[in-house]
Amino acid sequence: MNATAADVRRRCIARTVRADVRALTRYEVPDAAGFIKLDAMENPYALPPALAQALGAALSRVAINRYPDADARAAKDALRETLSLPADAGILLGNGSDELIQIVTSTLARPDTGVLAPDPSFVMYRRNALMAQAPFEAVALRSDFALDIDAMLAAIERARPALVFLAYPNNPTGNLFDAQDVERIIRATPGMVAIDEAYYAFADASFLPRVLEFPNLIVIRTVSKIGMAGLRIGYAVAHPDWIGEFDKLRPPYNVGSLAQSALPLLLAHADVFAEQAQAIKAERARVADALATFGAGVFPTKTNFVLARMPGADAAFAALLAAKILVKNLHGSHPLLAHCLRITIGTRSENDALLDVLGRHLTQRA
Ligand SMILES: *Cc1c(COP(=O)(O)O)cnc(C)c1O
Repeated sequence: MNATAADVRRRCIARTVRADVRALTRYEVPDAAGFIKLDAMENPYALPPALAQALGAALSRVAINRYPDADARAAKDALRETLSLPADAGILLGNGSDELIQIVTSTLARPDTGVLAPDPSFVMYRRNALMAQAPFEAVALRSDFALDIDAMLAAIERARPALVFLAYPNNPTGNLFDAQDVERIIRATPGMVAIDEAYYAFADASFLPRVLEFPNLIVIRTVSKIGMAGLRIGYAVAHPDWIGEFDKLRPPYNVGSLAQSALPLLLAHADVFAEQAQAIKAERARVADALATFGAGVFPTKTNFVLARMPGADAAFAALLAAKILVKNLHGSHPLLAHCLRITIGTRSENDALLDVLGRHLTQRA
């Protein structure tokens, strides 16, 4: 019998694509068209119209026929100024902080010395270790989602990881780890510690001012959660000697010229994003209080989302979907996250719509 073209292709894929990649499923992003989108930690507010106009005018002047500045100088200068970065700190831009996680992991992790992170935490740490064909050590958080510092230190001693990731605050649990525990981990780690501060704007805590205090620290951030998720810009800050190594694995034009030109203009209006973060924090308290009043278990959060445990989380998720509201259902993803929904804070009216559905769900079950 003649092999069909499809058979030949499938066999070629099976013997050519890495077995671990074939076993992987892609990172699923649900189609949210027509939904109130409370699943991805986006800032719910649009740009003020005058700023959107100014952005349009600036982007119209970009020479789209030319490659972007490979060193993204204007964008980096704007970040340095906005963050008051020390002049002797190095900075690396990524196509989102996702790309920086990938670059740092592939620079450091090897088959014999891998990556270590608390669990549950951001899923990309594990995925990137896998992509780098390096072992990944997951150390369980305590049931209140604090670091189990003794278990962390013991695992670091045993595994001698090349790289430790700490999301500060943590996703998907929302809490901020104890700063003294973090410091002990930095000092105990033979390799590098990457502190991922995706939610710094909602946390009132940061290791960025201390990044040069330790020989093995890098702080990774993103503008995604503060209101620029569409730009795809993340930044990493560390000593220039470290940044120089990571820069070797960065694709030369990884941040497009539209994003590079938008960033300085938007950061010049950092007050707009700071005000929006304030509004999100106020709504966060209101949503958390309301959920607790309905009888949900609400975990402390220093992010722009709330983790809530409730009876019938799957049914609550389904009721929200039926009402065209998308959140993240974490039930089944990890034993510590049983019956938990992760709810991104939206606008006041979006949050009201969510509370309406969850209020009815929870009072019916009570
Ligand atoms: C959202 C998130 C990121 C990814 O951010 P991008 O810059 O949009 O790629 C990284 N780390 C954590 C902990 C996050 O929650």
